[in-house]
Order: sequence, then C-alpha cells, then structure tokens
Amino acid sequence: MFIDSHIHITLDGINFKKSRERFKKGNFKKYIHNIFKGYKEKGIYALRDGGDDLEVYKEIKEIARKENIIYKSPIYALYKKNHYASFLGRPIGNKYEFKREFEILKNKGIDHLKIPLTGLVSFKKYKDVGEIAFSLDELKYMIDTAKDSNISVMVHANSKEAVDMAIKAGTNTIEHGYFIEERELYNMAKNNIIWIPTLAPFGNIYYKDNKILKKHINVIERVYKKHLEIVNKGYELGVNIGVGSDSGAYLVRHVEGFFDEIKYLNEAGISEKEALKLSFENGIKALNLTKEEINFIRGIKNDFSRSRHK
Ligand SMILES: [Zn+2]
Repeated sequence: MFIDSHIHITLDGINFKKSRERFKKGNFKKYIHNIFKGYKEKGIYALRDGGDDLEVYKEIKEIARKENIIYKSPIYALYKKNHYASFLGRPIGNKYEFKREFEILKNKGIDHLKIPLTGLVSFKKYKDVGEIAFSLDELKYMIDTAKDSNISVMVHANSKEAVDMAIKAGTNTIEHGYFIEERELYNMAKNNIIWIPTLAPFGNIYYKDNKILKKHINVIERVYKKHLEIVNKGYELGVNIGVGSDSGAYLVRHVEGFFDEIKYLNEAGISEKEALKLSFENGIKALNLTKEEINFIRGIKNDFSRSRHK
C-alpha cells in the first residue's frame, strides 16, 4: 500500500482561489469523499497534509474516518510574521506567540507541526527561495517544544542554508529541499531525517507545456534538472526519501500527483518498485503511524499495480 507524505487537501492543483472558495463556503463534503475514494482506488491509504488557514480539518478528519483512510494534519502551519505562507497558516512573531499557538493546536489535536522556513522556489529567478524566516534558536525552540509533546515536525525548507538549519534544529522531515548539496544529504542520512523532495510541482510544469509559465521555461528546466540530480545523489547516499507529491500545488492533481511523483523519482534513478516501497516505508515514519495504523494499511492486499496505469 502507498502513502502520499505531502498533500494539500484544500487545494486542487487547478485554481487556487476557486478551490479555497469551496471550503470557505462550506460546500465540500461530497468533494472530499470523492477525493479520498480516488486515493483508495489507487491503493493510497494514508495522507499527510501540509496545512491551510481554512480550519476545516474537523470535517475532513470525520470524512477520512468514514472513508477508512488515514489523514494526518498539522491543521495550520505556524509561519513567521511578514514571511511566506499566509494561506498555509497563522503568523507568529516570537517564542511566546509560538507557545500560545502551539497550545491551541495541541488542544485542537494536531498530528504534526508544520513550519515554513523559506518561501517557494521561484519560477522566474534561479535559486530564489525567499529568505530564511526563523533563527536557529527560534527553530530549535519550536522543534524541541513539539518533541516534548511527542509531536513530529515537518519543516518546509529550500536552499542549503535553510535545510542545514532545519537539520541542526532536529526536524523530523524536510519538505522540498531544493538546491541542497552533498553535505545536507549526508547530514540528513546521518540524522535519520526523512526527506520529501516533491519533484511533481516542477516536473509537471516542465512536462505539461504550460502557456503561462512558458516564458520562464529555462529557469524551470534548470531547477527541475538540478533537483533530479540532488535526489539521485541523496538516494545513492542512503537518505530516507519519502514520496510526497505536493498535490494541490499548481498543476499537481490529487491521486494522479502521487504517480507523477513516482515517475519523476524514477527519472531521478529510483526504480518504480523501489519508489513505491519508499512511499510506504518512509511514509509510515513521516506520518508517525501507530502500530495499529500500520497493520491496517499492511492488511490491504489488493493488487493495485495494474489499476494505477489506467
Ligand atoms: Zn506543500
């Protein structure tokens, strides 16, 4: 069985604004049932969300329970005031504000904590990922606090400096990790950190011949090819790579996105069979699944190898 370790359930990969409207209007139950059904049809039985500011997690969790699919959510991310990620979460300015928000999140029942450390990878300017939002001291404080409550942490980080900081601060997983180098790969492997490289957003833009982004195709190609290279090196060095599609991101559709990611991991030199295995083995760690949950997904024995190519 497969696990997608990075999705955004409230985004659809097509229209950012319209997708969010659906949730703001409260008109999404049937839609979410269908998305979960779609995942299950292709053998994907566990999902890990990257959070949003829409506060619909209760309803979504309830639907997941009814559909018998594992859905893990940080509810909303905690990002640094005046930095990237307003649609993913709530802003915090200092340790005190973090602590207050974290307590609220704990009471709401978060499954993991999401911290955006840098911005998105730019389509326009090579290696532009925005600035690093937190200091090492702040990041370490947040991660230590979460760990004290047995809550694992996903850090969204691009650039070698940001990923290096997240490793030093003791994150459980690194999301994206564009533009990292051998040292970061080595340190991720050494510290048993799960890396979710999310190739699909750039791979899909690169291959799907998108008119809007065509003028930036040189940067997009460079970013994508560089990331393939880094993923390949990471795999060779024994980094624990997890499969996360970033479904919901532009041009990455739910369910399909998972197999896009597998295809691109394959392009990076990881066989399809191995990538599917990684999705499960590192997915159970990234999602921090309980023994019962692991047994539940292990117990699903259908043969999905044919259905997924339809
Ligand atoms: Zn994401």
